[in-house]
Amino acid sequence: MFSKILIANRGEIALRIIRACREMGIKTVAVYSTADKTALHAQIADEAVCIGPPATKDSYINTKAIIAACEITGAKAIHPGFGFLSENSGFVRLCDKCGIKWIGPTAAAMDAMGDKANAKKTMIEANVPVVPGSDGVVDSLEDAKAISAEIGYPVMVKASAGGGGRGIRLVESEDELEEKIFAAKQEAKQFFGNDDVYIEKFIVNPRHIEIQLLADEHGNAVYLGERDCSCQRRNQKVLEESPSVVMTPELRKKMGEAAVRAAKACGYTNAGTVEFLVDKDRNFYFMEMNTRIQVEHPVTEMLTGIDLIKEQIKIADGQPLDFSQEDVKIDGHAIECRINAEDPAKGFRPCPGRIESLHMPGGFGVRIDTAVYQGYEISPYYDSMIAKVIVKGKDRVEAIQKMKVALGEFLIEGITTNVDFQLNLLKDSDFEKGDFDIGFLNRKDLTKK
Ligand code: ADP
Ligand code: ADP
Ligand code: MG
Repeated sequence: MFSKILIANRGEIALRIIRACREMGIKTVAVYSTADKTALHAQIADEAVCIGPPATKDSYINTKAIIAACEITGAKAIHPGFGFLSENSGFVRLCDKCGIKWIGPTAAAMDAMGDKANAKKTMIEANVPVVPGSDGVVDSLEDAKAISAEIGYPVMVKASAGGGGRGIRLVESEDELEEKIFAAKQEAKQFFGNDDVYIEKFIVNPRHIEIQLLADEHGNAVYLGERDCSCQRRNQKVLEESPSVVMTPELRKKMGEAAVRAAKACGYTNAGTVEFLVDKDRNFYFMEMNTRIQVEHPVTEMLTGIDLIKEQIKIADGQPLDFSQEDVKIDGHAIECRINAEDPAKGFRPCPGRIESLHMPGGFGVRIDTAVYQGYEISPYYDSMIAKVIVKGKDRVEAIQKMKVALGEFLIEGITTNVDFQLNLLKDSDFEKGDFDIGFLNRKDLTKK
């Protein structure tokens, strides 16, 4: 087993990984930017190395500085968390060259899935249903028009290198097509340095249901149930839960097996998630594979009792999975609410600042993943997510009740957050009934009440 792991990330996920390493008796190295001198991950790890100035490109995605930090500290493996370098296959190849083990899939598997337009082609070959659309990247307006007319409007223009809901545009009719492609390309260029886009049919009012996978380096792969992430605002997840209210044991098996086929088709190893859209008739379509740990992974951990970060480390160490598909038991109901430093009343604009006073909820079945503390200054440079509240109840009703109690207790003074927005969502009668889809939060105004 690795004696020392470097965590190439910050915030709650860095802390989450440090804790798992510590439980496994592995030493940890944190990296931090000058803006993060007082950040918890930098203080709690066994060692911490400053890797540059605040801007992400100079620090958290500064590959040379991160490799140098491994060399200085003797770290033998890198855990990337999510965001930053987690889906950067070029960096995985650099790690390979430097003899540093990447805690995640191989660069080749990442490439096969990372280019989302290309991934769809692989899925068709693996007999996994995909959303109808262009055959790969669309190069010209003429091609875009032809394919859109063929599949029928509305269509989605999507960045091939996309992630985090960026570089996606809905197109209602042909006269909008040129302008929307331009906008998607510009955003894609800005966020991913790659402006390739593809087109797919807009599925009307679907749910976003994803399957968590673990695959070892010996050919074993298992699915750990689903997460329903349909509660999204502008394609960004707000609340995730499992099981999905529309799931049946048969559908879970079908989707789980499709996800395993997807992983096997590209020689996938380590933890990954296959995202599907599910329509009203419970048809499901492959959307993309996230080749990393996800923000909402605790939902699955709460239901299965499996520590996904520890499993990732054991897989990277070459160990075979020590359980099989039949051993995976899903028990109860789990919900995660993402708590962001943002102002719902002002278009959800990020609200960095100092946390003057903080009280976090707790109790039976309540888990908080966070890296903030009282007196901590939330920096404007990074993502606005400051905490995740995860609860587990015996059923959905109990889980919702538990989450309401937990959020009702959450006190964060000094900055504005979306806690009240989340409470309004939990109280919404359609949410309560489980009657929602990915467009539901965009259609309602839950910012008041
Ligand atoms: P998840 O399904 O894990 O929630 P998201 O797509 O929401 O995944 O992304 C997780 C985090 O990573 C978010 O904070 C998001 O802003 C960030 N992120 C996603 N893709 C990228 C990317 N290509 N580059 C930088 N950050 C990204
Ligand atoms: P990202 O890599 O940014 O997470 P996804 O491909 O997962 O991009 O899409 C993000 C979200 O956009 C999905 O969760 C879903 O809500 C919506 N979406 C994507 N593709 C479609 C589609 N073809 N029809 C309807 N909604 C879609
Ligand atoms: Mg996605």
